[in-house]
Amino acid sequence: MKKFSCPGDHVSYQLHIRVHRDVRIVAGALGSCNFPAGHYVYTGSARRNLQARITRHLSTGKKLRWHIDYLLAHPDVEILRVETSAIPECRWNQQLEGRIPVAGFGASDCRNGCGSHLKLLSPFP
Ligand SMILES: [Zn+2]
Repeated sequence: MKKFSCPGDHVSYQLHIRVHRDVRIVAGALGSCNFPAGHYVYTGSARRNLQARITRHLSTGKKLRWHIDYLLAHPDVEILRVETSAIPECRWNQQLEGRIPVAGFGASDCRNGCGSHLKLLSPFP
């Protein structure tokens, strides 16, 4: 398991994710979802212990809990890098230029109308 560290005032994180080829996953209650190959960004937050949250995302073989866990568990999906920030997660997510591949994905707790906390930035290759 990779260890991750970030500044203490950071509350939000973005996972830059590459989906190497078109994949279809069943993400818990959301059901079956299609993800075209491309570069995605997932935005989340943890008020306490952000580092532990990110370390969990980077780990493999864990119990699948959040929507993003199901996507990251796919063998054709890879985390490219992680960024952290003091910007609140919804504002940071809304600043991203991209399209929403699956409505509601990662946004079960969102109260700010993001639509999804996973965005497709660009098709790949
Ligand atoms: Zn939001």
